[in-house]
Amino acid sequence: MDYPSSDVIDYFSIAPAHIIKGENVISKIGENITHLGTRPLIVGGEKTLPITDNNLRTILKKHKEIVVVSKSYSPECSETSLKHLTSLVHEHKADVIIGVGGGKALDMAKILAYCNRLPIVTIPTSGATCAAWTALSNIYTHQGIFKYDVSLSRCPDILILDYSIIRTAPQRTLIAGIGDAIAKWYEASISLKNVNNRQVLTMTAIQQAKTIKNILLQKSYIAINNIYGKEWFEVVDACILLAGIVSGLGGSNCRTVAAHAVHNGLTNIKTVHTILHGEKVAYGILVQLRLEEIMQNSQLAAISRQQLLKFYQKIGLPRNLKELGLDKITKEELNLIAQIICRPDSDIHRLPFTVSSKQLLLAMRSTAQ
Ligand SMILES: [Zn+2]
Repeated sequence: MDYPSSDVIDYFSIAPAHIIKGENVISKIGENITHLGTRPLIVGGEKTLPITDNNLRTILKKHKEIVVVSKSYSPECSETSLKHLTSLVHEHKADVIIGVGGGKALDMAKILAYCNRLPIVTIPTSGATCAAWTALSNIYTHQGIFKYDVSLSRCPDILILDYSIIRTAPQRTLIAGIGDAIAKWYEASISLKNVNNRQVLTMTAIQQAKTIKNILLQKSYIAINNIYGKEWFEVVDACILLAGIVSGLGGSNCRTVAAHAVHNGLTNIKTVHTILHGEKVAYGILVQLRLEEIMQNSQLAAISRQQLLKFYQKIGLPRNLKELGLDKITKEELNLIAQIICRPDSDIHRLPFTVSSKQLLLAMRSTAQ
């Protein structure tokens, strides 16, 4: 599929133009939306849309000029869903897109707005990813297999972070968000080894990734056991906002590496579709560290992995194939996944050393040793 190009050298989409955050802020956003358009199309998931849609419609209808429609993107953020939603954009004469939900819903809304050159508002309903912030959409097949990602021309026009919505999300979503956000440090710091020209923005992104890691290692356990406590707000902000800043400032120098490559490969297994993005990424970090140990004899990677294993156990992130629900996977199946992860276009090749599927297989099977 052809998308408008935004591949310009040194092009940075650092942050949303506006961020509105606080408790019950959603009830006050009507005015902000009317600045962008009066015919919004709300895009959400099948589960989140019924929860937020009525509320959002009531808020928007207070502004008489607003005519709103909403549509689920389900089952996937795919090319097929994009086509269906684009027809609705034309039918409704939509002039602004509002994305509501988790990572896939927001990715769908962002790419829909990008392809139709419309403003975009993102409203995350959980702390599971930083998709509400970034200028990136991941595209999957209709069956849920990762296909590719698309760099968008800019971050959202408005990001609305309403803590009273986030607090109602299942606790598991924030734990997954912690896995996805902590990956920023492990992936950004290793991809930096490939960057010859250490730019100031890249270095700032790396510092930011380190800050996220420190916040999450120190405060996640307290946060998930005390919703709405001080630490909970810090962890939610780290997962949704700070993680987004790393992508924005780091640009092409701080891309995803092996942890996300492992995630992408795992989407080829149907039973793993019930495992959240950040949970698969968390396991992927352990695989990446294990590869550094095997290929480079890195003691630092070994220490980091042991530290993460304790952390994962404490907060409930998967440490091995068994905890991903893959204890019964055959050697042949796993070998096939390893081969998919090692395809030439995979992010795994951003590692500063060459990895074969055989070495990857060994790493995937020994993450918790
Ligand atoms: Zn991710």
